[in-house]
Amino acid sequence: MKKLIVVTGASSGIGEAIARRLSAAGHPLLLLARRIEKLQGLNLPETLCEKVDVTDRESFEAAIAKAEQAYGPADCIVNNAGVMLLNPLDSQDSQEWKTMFDVNVIALMHGMQAVLAPMKARKSGTIINISSVAGRKTFPSHAAYCGTKFAVHAISENVREEVADANVRVTTIAPGAVETELLSHTTSDEIKAGYEQWKEQMEGVLAADDIARAVEYAYQQPQGVCVREIVIAATRQQ
Ligand code: NDP
Repeated sequence: MKKLIVVTGASSGIGEAIARRLSAAGHPLLLLARRIEKLQGLNLPETLCEKVDVTDRESFEAAIAKAEQAYGPADCIVNNAGVMLLNPLDSQDSQEWKTMFDVNVIALMHGMQAVLAPMKARKSGTIINISSVAGRKTFPSHAAYCGTKFAVHAISENVREEVADANVRVTTIAPGAVETELLSHTTSDEIKAGYEQWKEQMEGVLAADDIARAVEYAYQQPQGVCVREIVIAATRQQ
């Protein structure tokens, strides 16, 4: 029987594509997001959908425990939930920084912590953290978002070294621009228009399933093979 995989932020975009792909590969899933109706609408077999704000550690851990009762120990967590709120730093509301750090960084660490001890005890397991090309280089109006994604790279690589001895894998996947709802939460129409123009200039960006294939590739390697990092972007993206 295939093992349980947890996917955060599976109600749209990249997380939804990851859920569809891993379900098609036969895995039972725990899908988490605030929009439960979107999770349930995917209608995937052997899938528990839970309305969880990943910044709420208690409900995050409770959902994992519930899924493990039904499907056995989580063999993999894909920490994908994320928010991107773009604004120049001098005028950005500091609540936007906090939201991004809470979701993109702290909740991702909660996700890792929720599964790591049992994975280490079993000497098997995989953590896949979704970072960004914005975790490798900076872009205008991205200071706080880039800060969160640089942090995801650093934290993931550090934890990979910490748990390597226990045969647990940590993979960082850094997508370039992907067509999803991510930009829609940014409040500045000017920044959104500039982003759309940038996407047009490169004649389109990646599809969410392009990232889901990378996740599946990393996960499906034998447990003794750790894909440490994948940076994946549209060929025309600089
Ligand atoms: P979407 O906005 O389409 O999806 C974001 C997902 O995160 C949604 O399912 C949303 O669910 C979930 N989410 C956000 N906040 C919370 C929260 N507090 N608790 C639970 N779930 C939450 O964007 P993408 O699919 O593009 O983003 C997925 C990941 O990919 C993010 O980490 C993003 O930074 C990263 N990424 C995206 C790129 C792109 O160009 N699209 C490029 C590089 C990286 P809900 O609102 O229902 O809670």
